[in-house]
Amino acid sequence: MTAQLIDGNALAKSMREGAIARGEKLRAQGVQPHLAIVLVGEDPASQVYVKHKVADSEQTGLRATLERYPADMSEAELLLRIHALNVDNGIHGILVQLPLPSHMDSQKVIEAISPAKDVDGFHVSSAGALMVGRPGFWPCTPHGCLKMLDSIGYDLRGKHAVVIGRSNIVGKPMAMMLLGRDATVTICHSRTADLKALTLQADVVVAAVGKRNVLTADMVKPGAVVIDVGMNRNDEGKLCGDVDFDGVKQVAGWITPVPGGVGPMTRAMLLVNTLEAAERATR
Ligand code: NAP
Repeated sequence: MTAQLIDGNALAKSMREGAIARGEKLRAQGVQPHLAIVLVGEDPASQVYVKHKVADSEQTGLRATLERYPADMSEAELLLRIHALNVDNGIHGILVQLPLPSHMDSQKVIEAISPAKDVDGFHVSSAGALMVGRPGFWPCTPHGCLKMLDSIGYDLRGKHAVVIGRSNIVGKPMAMMLLGRDATVTICHSRTADLKALTLQADVVVAAVGKRNVLTADMVKPGAVVIDVGMNRNDEGKLCGDVDFDGVKQVAGWITPVPGGVGPMTRAMLLVNTLEAAERATR
């Protein structure tokens, strides 16, 4: 069997087209959706990420303002800045790019963002809302994964989903979203005793670890859907995921590539969340 590809680039493109239409509708009502991105310090990867986020927003007709601050900015100054953005009615979404410099308490900074503007979905209120099934912003990466499953018309009811990774931004919210769709969910992590025994039972595997070849062909049930969240570099320095793509695609029914899979969907879901924030602000 050769798995069918879930094309994140194509799906993200269609999500962006939907976002453009939603933005136009808002502008017709006199609302310009506006995302504030806060970058503290000079982390090279963060600089690339924020550049993409600004470009994506602008290409979709959203306004994005990038606020850059030096690495020695104090936490108190950053909290004041976030407060000012919270009370600014012209700002609908606030994103603080992580990681923050080590002298700052990232969770405290995230908690300072108004939940109504928490478009990254990292605030404890957003996590709690997802947990209890109330409206709130869902973290972009797992939400993008769910959209990928929806795009192939996959019915999760009664299926066994195995999520590898239990981070607050990917693994745990992913598990909650799958549970919300009536899948039976197993969450694995670095202390899981026999990962292969669990993944072999899975109808859906989401790998969110950050290590190459965490999931190999011998660990996958024939026909399973495999979503690869990981972002790693191979020996040649090329971007690759957590999944041994060439091997697993011989066994799986569906698979996401890296690059061109979850990454573009994460970016698209940020636009969707920003629009959602702007729409809610008009209600
Ligand atoms: P993280 O916070 O480092 O979490 C990694 C998780 O993997 C942890 O729960 C860890 O377990 C688990 N783990 C480590 N080794 C394992 C093993 N051998 N077997 C099973 N589980 C293992 O990472 P993250 O932020 O969730 O990100 C995960 C990956 O996704 C990274 O490569 C990241 O770059 C990528 N990512 C991609 C996107 C995208 O848009 N494509 C977005 C976000 C993240 P413990 O909890 O026991 O330590």
